[in-house]
Amino acid sequence: MPEVFLASRNAKKLAEMQRILAEQIPGIVVLGLDDVAHYEEPVEDQPTFEGNALLKARAAVRETGLPSIADDSGLCVDALNQMPGVLSARWSGLPKSDERNNELLLAQLADVPEERRGAHFACAVALCLPGGETHVVHGRMDGRIIREVRGAGGFGYDVVFVADEHAAENLTSAELDPVEKDRISHRGKALRALAPVVAQALTG
Ligand code: IMP
Repeated sequence: MPEVFLASRNAKKLAEMQRILAEQIPGIVVLGLDDVAHYEEPVEDQPTFEGNALLKARAAVRETGLPSIADDSGLCVDALNQMPGVLSARWSGLPKSDERNNELLLAQLADVPEERRGAHFACAVALCLPGGETHVVHGRMDGRIIREVRGAGGFGYDVVFVADEHAAENLTSAELDPVEKDRISHRGKALRALAPVVAQALTG
């Protein structure tokens, strides 16, 4: 089975993507940034998830020569006009910190009542092939922002986000079994849509 390169420095995101791809394409060999020669990653300066995902996947195929996948994702909060969006990873400034991001978000939403705490995670996943072909897929997970941090799994804003599917039990995405998060997550949906294209590209 040929290899595919996943251009991400986020170890937890990478693990999620490897897990979802391996489930869809048994035997697939997924390489991360640590498995290839070091290269300067592009600055994520595009205004959309799709733009940033394409930027990262194009740089990856140019630098490695391997079929390359990159994801760009974030949290879009209704009461904040869909911010932090593409700024999610560095919402509270640099250096990036999930803990500070969550603190800032909860403070910004302190006065926002329950009925206006809607939010969704969104992602774009781009596949770029050495021949120049590109594919982009999108995924989304709807839910709401709670008032405190809860749970030990996942990463990023998972600890403050309750997906609609788990509203009844009031479980954050950080309290879900990883398999369940993959089933309902923006990244799971996007990667499952992309998997047949990856399989086709790798096996010819
Ligand atoms: P990226 O690595 O530039 O795509 O940044 C994505 C950022 O969005 C992450 O650092 C998280 O803060 C947030 N994010 C994206 N997907 C998720 C998720 O599944 N759970 C929690 N936070 C996420």
